[in-house]
Amino acid sequence: MSKTIAINAGSSSLKWQLYEMPAETVIAKGLVERIGLNDSIFTVKYGEGQKYEVVTDIPDHEIAVKMLLDQLIELNILASYDEITGVGHRVVHGGEYFDKSVIIDDDVIAKIEEVAVFAPLHNPAHLMGIRAFKHLLPDIISVAVFDTAFHASMPREAYLYSLPLAYYNDYKVRKYGAHGTSHRYVSQRAADMLEQPIEDLKIITCHLGNGGSITAVKEGKSVDTSMGFTPLAGITMGTRSGDIDAAVLPYLMKKLDIDIDEMLNILNKKSGLLGLTNGLSSDMRDLQDNKDKEDVKVALDIFYDRIRKYIGSYVAAMDGADAIVFTAGIGENSAVVRSEIVKGLSWFGVELDETENAKFGEHIISTKDSKIKVLLIPTDEELMIARDVEALRPSFK
Ligand code: ADP
Repeated sequence: MSKTIAINAGSSSLKWQLYEMPAETVIAKGLVERIGLNDSIFTVKYGEGQKYEVVTDIPDHEIAVKMLLDQLIELNILASYDEITGVGHRVVHGGEYFDKSVIIDDDVIAKIEEVAVFAPLHNPAHLMGIRAFKHLLPDIISVAVFDTAFHASMPREAYLYSLPLAYYNDYKVRKYGAHGTSHRYVSQRAADMLEQPIEDLKIITCHLGNGGSITAVKEGKSVDTSMGFTPLAGITMGTRSGDIDAAVLPYLMKKLDIDIDEMLNILNKKSGLLGLTNGLSSDMRDLQDNKDKEDVKVALDIFYDRIRKYIGSYVAAMDGADAIVFTAGIGENSAVVRSEIVKGLSWFGVELDETENAKFGEHIISTKDSKIKVLLIPTDEELMIARDVEALRPSFK
């Protein structure tokens, strides 16, 4: 038995989950927020609903990690640092370098740094987490799990934009996708639930959270995904526009007299459901509560429409589909959203069992006769991270 910790480090946060492996039991989990600011918040959840929380100044990630390890001992969750034998880090962008999770060494760190140009808010923050753990627990296996890696299997026709080819060759402008760890997890679970080898299946996975992406998974591999060069592309999201005509940008920049940074800020933070509802909310719960309002109704219709069209296009891209999976905050919790999306797919022979659709948790929600099965699968990216650490352990020297 060994204890493995899954880490998601943000620029001012550190989210973690401690597992007993290979049992895959969550022993404790928590969050450090406002790192580098006043009144950082440090939370640990453990045992049978126990919670430890303290508000104090935590100036950097290394101090956050030290505090975390010490607190795990203090709370009798660990006897000593030595009990943690592996750490896995979520890394948003691996560029074209990584098609799977890897043991972190100096070369991996240099590459994560190099591709930080594609994820300037995320990769530098992940590196802070990686370095802090390396410093405090230098002898244990440390693994990077990339959000982009699952999409490395996309064929050229899916990942290249119709731009001059030199921009791909010289500057690596292409589709990278995101949420890969989630799409990988739910597609594997779907194959397990359908009791069929994943190599025989065509699955469309819908990760619908604040950010959302749809992926076409053929024979266990991502063959296309809705997010692009950045997570701005694809479906309508909480605050992101998703796909739009690029020519809108210069037109609006002139009209509003704003620069490109402000334009991108609008597309990332003020658009999507929030923008369509005139700033009412980006949160699906609020919108469902207000769906009698005309703007909200239109916003929701657009949300359903974009997702449905991606699903339709991925049926075409894979020449069929065996299953559609719903996951993440909206996908897991909103029966109404699932129902509205699937309503427009009856031509494909998709039919929901509304009694099953109304229930929570991992299960099949389509009727027995539905040509394409529909599954609700709560995602578990942290577990995937812990599993990847275990899978790489034998190659760790
Ligand atoms: P993130 O992308 O931040 O990880 P999540 O996967 O946590 O996002 O999803 C957040 C979204 O899930 C929000 O829009 C929230 O409203 C939505 N959500 C959570 N619970 C429900 C629910 N019961 N009904 C509808 N939407 C929900």
